[in-house]
Amino acid sequence: MKRIKIFDTTLRDGEQAPGCSMDFAEKMELALALERLGVDVIEAGFAISSPGDFESVEAIAKAVTNCTVASLARCTRKDIDVAYDAVKEAAHPRIHVFLATSPTHMEYKLRMTEQQVLDTISTMVAYAKTKLDDVEFSAEDATRSDREFLAKALTAAVKAGATTINIPDTVGYAVPHEMGDLIRYLMENVEGLKDVDVSVHCHNDLGLAVANSLEALRAGATQVETSVCGLGERAGNAALEEVVMALSTRKDAMPYYCQVDTTRIFPTSRLVYSILGVQAPLNKPIVGANAFAHEAGIHQHGVLANRQTYEIMTPESVGVNTSKMVLGKHSGRHAVEDRLNDLGYTLDAEEMDKLFARFKALSDRKKAITDADLEALVLHRGMDTGAPYTLDRFTANAGNYVSCSAVVRLKHNGEQLEAVALGDGPIDAAFNAVDIIVKAPEHRLEDYSIQTISEGKDAQGEAMVKLRAGDRTVTGRGLSTDVLEASLIAYINGMNKLL
Ligand SMILES: [Zn+2]
Repeated sequence: MKRIKIFDTTLRDGEQAPGCSMDFAEKMELALALERLGVDVIEAGFAISSPGDFESVEAIAKAVTNCTVASLARCTRKDIDVAYDAVKEAAHPRIHVFLATSPTHMEYKLRMTEQQVLDTISTMVAYAKTKLDDVEFSAEDATRSDREFLAKALTAAVKAGATTINIPDTVGYAVPHEMGDLIRYLMENVEGLKDVDVSVHCHNDLGLAVANSLEALRAGATQVETSVCGLGERAGNAALEEVVMALSTRKDAMPYYCQVDTTRIFPTSRLVYSILGVQAPLNKPIVGANAFAHEAGIHQHGVLANRQTYEIMTPESVGVNTSKMVLGKHSGRHAVEDRLNDLGYTLDAEEMDKLFARFKALSDRKKAITDADLEALVLHRGMDTGAPYTLDRFTANAGNYVSCSAVVRLKHNGEQLEAVALGDGPIDAAFNAVDIIVKAPEHRLEDYSIQTISEGKDAQGEAMVKLRAGDRTVTGRGLSTDVLEASLIAYINGMNKLL
């Protein structure tokens, strides 16, 4: 069995996709979740692209200790300097430089000749190498490049000291056998390629990103670039969960393994979808609601007799919660902390105090507290820390023959601010009351959804709102056993970001 590295780019390629932007706290939360998931490399961002990106790459580099943290950089000194500054304090820092090698990109985007491209690669990879030992080079649009020229470009990068060579299918154009052929050709024709990591970064425009990545492994690649739920430019990247579960389920056909903890896949995907304020498509492989659902009678019958009749992997293997009762009103702090550790979370004493208080409050409202409930509490921790407005109390009056009204009281700098408003339903009325208190800027509620965390009438609901003001979109999340309260918290959370 050959060890394969998983390079995750959810925070870079994923985050730059339309509608997928994340704020600082969300990026930190996700980086720590990726570390727990067990990826080898986290591409934390593109440090030079904005001060916000720099700040989050730097913070992630300092916080993450078990995986390599990379920043993307174009082939310029300035980009490389900034990338280095952002990752230099990481336990395992990496600079990831890229330059396009396809005729179209060289002529129209870079306006460079082949020779200029080769020289730039040699100089800039060598420059990055003066900063760090771990340097990855990507030949952007590799799959539409001239093979012989691509081999020359990669030879230059290897000679200059690149320790990982990435071959991206930037526009999602390759088909599997072609991707395999290309990797084999490069293995033969790039001097020293067998001594460094060979990586692929496949886009999913034709739905072939995972297939192309697996074919590249067969041809000798040792690293796959993925993103959680396949987020990324346009149709996205190879989905981490699909690549990892294909390898884990079909060990017989593909003798490779990686160190990802598959039971962390489902919680991590939930975190990503909840940050984005959307739900997984029903039929999304591995993490969609239907991925393990058996509806047809003949299938159900088969699965009841023997799960293997229609199930090639178990829900448990990817961490889908089978919601056994774990904790309740009488569980002590120690039991809660133990369970959290089992789930992969380590909280410091202060965070644990706050979390335990929220656990107690929840156990007053809900009898059985499942892993999913506990996980939701952790993921929602600290959401209002330092927020300008927090929910104090509310009442709502609703009915189908009265106009709905809500009274909302918020806390703001030690003050209590209250407003009353009417609306189409109690949620609309409560949101209107918040608008009055915070003197909300012109905005639109683009999306609103609520989903339950676990089963039963006393289940916690997680509400998500998406607000748009001008060209800015923010999402807010809220958690409560009361759907109106969850919605209000989500709205206030979103409003805090908008303000
Ligand atoms: Zn990409």
